[in-house]
Amino acid sequence: TGKPEITFAGAAAEQVTFSYGTEIILSNVSVEVPEHSVVGIVGRSGSGKSTLLKLLMRFWDVRQGKVMISDMPIDQINTANLRELESFVTQETHLFHDSIKNNLRIAKLDAADEEIESACKKASVHEFIMSLPQGYDTPIGELGDTLSGGERQRLGLARAFLHDAPLLLLDEPTSNLDSLNEAVILKSLHEERKGKTVVLVSHRQSTMRMADKVYSVEHGRIS
Ligand code: ATP
Ligand code: MG
Repeated sequence: TGKPEITFAGAAAEQVTFSYGTEIILSNVSVEVPEHSVVGIVGRSGSGKSTLLKLLMRFWDVRQGKVMISDMPIDQINTANLRELESFVTQETHLFHDSIKNNLRIAKLDAADEEIESACKKASVHEFIMSLPQGYDTPIGELGDTLSGGERQRLGLARAFLHDAPLLLLDEPTSNLDSLNEAVILKSLHEERKGKTVVLVSHRQSTMRMADKVYSVEHGRIS
């Protein structure tokens, strides 16, 4: 659409006030995410942490304040370009009625099988997949609701590792994981963070320890 391709050079929310309906969820919130930093977001359930990540993804537009990516207002970046710059691991991993491999490949349509496996190793889910009778070709439909929260979560992380975007938005990426799997993920994130920027929402101290700076959201305000 004539908009220039941009590369990632940091993100920010500047005095953002946001509501879904009448109730104000975020009030005059400013957050700075410098390139190559890990920024943590903590706060009570319902305080607006996921909302903040969604605004950084432009799932919603703000009417007051600005969301900036690489010093550009986010609404001036074309959507395809924005999707290349960002990976979002949501609290709920959505899976489709298709094979595990195809569920992962949505993160990178031309990914070779080796790349998919490598991402799954980083996300500590490769061994689980290999333990299934059809491995990566196992239909998610047949697994139905039998996947555990932690297995789904690790598939979500594998997608993010595969997508390999410069900005990683992680919403409670380790909430359903035991400490062993958490350790593998944290190690991968440490290796990945070279050259990457991370915004991390987490209740877990052990995970939050990797943040350079932590913002706390309380009653819609940053403290
Ligand atoms: P948690 O720690 O439980 O994940 P959170 O800090 O991520 O909470 P949000 O999901 O950002 O909180 O929600 C903040 C507030 O906005 C909550 O009161 C929630 O009910 C409300 N909310 C979230 N999404 C919507 C939506 N799509 N429409 C209306 N209200 C919403
Ligand atoms: Mg949330």
